[in-house]
Amino acid sequence: MARYESWVPPPPVEAVSQEEELFTELLDRGIRTPETMRSFFDTDRPPIAEEEQPFRTLRELEIAARCDFLSGVLLLGSSVLAWGAERHVLGVLEAFSHMAWILGQVPGTTLEDASARATCVDLDRALAQRVAWRGGRAGAEAVSRFDEAVALATQAHDATSCTCGGRGRASVQATLRALTDGEDGSLATLPDVWTVLQASAAGDGAQRLMPGLDGDDLAYAPYTHRALMFASLLHGYSIPAVWLLSIDQASHADMTGHVTTKMLESAEMQAALNGDLDAGRIPVRPESPDPDDDD
Ligand SMILES: [Zn+2]
Repeated sequence: MARYESWVPPPPVEAVSQEEELFTELLDRGIRTPETMRSFFDTDRPPIAEEEQPFRTLRELEIAARCDFLSGVLLLGSSVLAWGAERHVLGVLEAFSHMAWILGQVPGTTLEDASARATCVDLDRALAQRVAWRGGRAGAEAVSRFDEAVALATQAHDATSCTCGGRGRASVQATLRALTDGEDGSLATLPDVWTVLQASAAGDGAQRLMPGLDGDDLAYAPYTHRALMFASLLHGYSIPAVWLLSIDQASHADMTGHVTTKMLESAEMQAALNGDLDAGRIPVRPESPDPDDDD
C-alpha cells in the first residue's frame, strides 16, 4: 500500500514512539467497524429490498459514510495527514444526520413514514446537484435532465405535505444537537465538531496547517485532535450502522455497538483525548492472559 511516509519520512522519534504504536493499534481496531455492515448490505440476498424507499437512499448514505469513515481512519494514521481527515468527518456526520432523520430518530418530526422522510433528503440532493452542474460546464441537455430530477424530487416531497424545502447540510447542526442532547463525553461534542470543521473547510483550517518557523513542511496534528476526529468518525458511523443492523440483524447490531463503545471507553482513547499521549504519558494496560483477546 502506498503510504505518505514512504516518500516523506516521518519524524524519527514518532516512528518508534510507544504513543504512536498505541494510537495505531486503536485505529486498526476501528477500521474493522464497517465489517458487520457487509452482512447487511453486501450479500447475495440482502435482508431488505434495496430498490425500495427508504432503503435506496439509506444504502447510498451508508456507502458514502463507509467510504468517508475508512478514508478518515487511514489519514488519522499519520500525524501530518490527519488534518485531511476533517473533510471525511464532515461527510460521515452529514450522512449520520440524514440517516437519523430518515430512520425517525430526530425528535419533532411530523412525518410518520420513513420513505416520506427520505424524500426530504432526496430533494436537497437533487437541488444541490443541479446547482453544482449549472455552475459547471454542463450542456443544455444535461441541465434539463437535472431540472427533471428536481421536478420529480419536488413532486415526491410535496406529496408528503412536508414543507422543509429539502434536508441538506444546513440541517445537520440542529440535527446533531437534537441527537446528542443530554449526552456527555465525545458524543456531546459532535455539534461543535461539525461547526468547527465547517469553518475549517471554509478557510479557518489553513492557519492551523502553517508550520512553525523552523522549516517543517506541514504542522503535526496532536493526539488530542486525532483522537477527537477518530471518536467523531466512530460515533458518526457506528450509531446509524447499529440502527440499520437492528432492523434485521440484532446480534450484529449488538456486536457493533459493543465493540465501538469499548474502543471509545478504552484507556488508549481516553489518554489520546485528554492529552496524556501528547505529554508522553502511556496508560497502564490491564493485565490480560491473552493479549489477542479483543474482549
Ligand atoms: Zn421535508
